[in-house]
Amino acid sequence: MNKTYEYIIIGAGIAGCSTAYFLSKHSSSILLIDRNCDVAQGASGAAGAFLSPLLGKPNAFKDLVTKALSFSTSFYKENTPLDIQNCGVVRIPKNEEDEEKFQSYKPYMDFEYKKEENGYFFEIGSQVNSYNICNTLAKDVEKRFKYEVLSYKKEDGHWILNDEIKCKNLIITSGADTSLVKENYFNIRAVWGQKIDVESNVSILKNYHKACSISFSKNVEEDLHIFSIGATHNRIECNLNICNCCFDKDKGHDTYTPSLIKKDTQELLEKANDIKNIGSAKVRNIKIGPRASSLDYFPIVGKLVDSVKTLEKYPHLKNGSHVKNDMLITEENLFVLNGVGGRGYVLSPYLAKNLVDEIIDNKLLNVEISTPRLFKRWVKKNN
Ligand SMILES: Cc1cc2nc3c(=O)[nH]c(=O)nc-3n(C[C@H](O)[C@H](O)[C@H](O)COP(=O)(O)OP(=O)(O)OC[C@H]3O[C@@H](n4cnc5c(N)ncnc54)[C@H](O)[C@@H]3O)c2cc1C
Repeated sequence: MNKTYEYIIIGAGIAGCSTAYFLSKHSSSILLIDRNCDVAQGASGAAGAFLSPLLGKPNAFKDLVTKALSFSTSFYKENTPLDIQNCGVVRIPKNEEDEEKFQSYKPYMDFEYKKEENGYFFEIGSQVNSYNICNTLAKDVEKRFKYEVLSYKKEDGHWILNDEIKCKNLIITSGADTSLVKENYFNIRAVWGQKIDVESNVSILKNYHKACSISFSKNVEEDLHIFSIGATHNRIECNLNICNCCFDKDKGHDTYTPSLIKKDTQELLEKANDIKNIGSAKVRNIKIGPRASSLDYFPIVGKLVDSVKTLEKYPHLKNGSHVKNDMLITEENLFVLNGVGGRGYVLSPYLAKNLVDEIIDNKLLNVEISTPRLFKRWVKKNN
């Protein structure tokens, strides 16, 4: 064990790669680790990677998504201009009830839109190339792939991973696999989804979203167009042996519930055909992955509250007493960015910027995304 990194990030999805990008502006001693053989092989590789506004009445989550969408769209345009297609998205209400809801949201639209086809066109809508973006964002940091972190412990103020790699600061961006975070309040559920890439004789000029999303198409040959369709939602008990298999490029997806994959593929083709005539669509590629969502849908960012030490110091928290967030005891030099759910490509650059501002400048994170909210809720519930 000779080298000590200033930062180690575990997880090379969009959360980890975005964090690597912003940290690399401040340090040249960063190691990004993943158990897979490359970046974007977990949920980040399965994503349709659409950037689309959240419609609804004003609330804190919508406000967060709106800020993140504006930030991330500009960020990708500036830093990865070849890997974002800002061709707009047509949002189509699923039924009459959905149309009524849309009408009621009109006074609260955060982005320009106009009526188009049988829905509403938002110019802000984009799709990004997930693999290229992760690769570009992580280009300036050292990487170690096919390396699984099984344990970490603190010794003399440093983190030691698997008894062999050492760092000052540890950032866990491990998506749906939260086995490295030992806090009971850190509750993430995995919702599995699927994306298919299809080739067809018809072209699609924009992104569409109704019961599924369809991307604009790329023309690869005369009369041959490729576009993607995502996503399904399946709650599957997350079996890490299964996860590792399906993430593994060499093994492919055959080891993971082939019948479910077949059913989802059929469902996606039908839903897409309900949006647009997708012609002679032939499936070229299938990707599946787990979206990692927190119980209140807000992301989980920043330092981890140490529940044992905090409850030892403030036992009356269990009786409902109030303790200010900044007085809770946090684990030094240990950070997380997780729970980005179905909007990882919208939220991650924005959240990673906020996280790095916290790490470098000690800037306080918004309470809605930081860990005290989960800790306090957990204490209240388990009292
Ligand atoms: C089908 C589908 C469609 C989606 N569509 C969209 C969309 O259109 N727009 C959008 O914004 N979002 C979309 N999402 C959501 C988005 O993909 C996720 O929110 C995002 O990818 C999560 O990124 P992440 O970095 O947190 O997790 P991941 O990408 O899963 O990365 C976590 C990484 O951590 C690694 N890891 C975990 N534990 C360890 C360990 N112990 N040691 C080493 N490595 C470890 C894993 O191997 C993995 O690579 C979609 C998701 C799915 C599944």
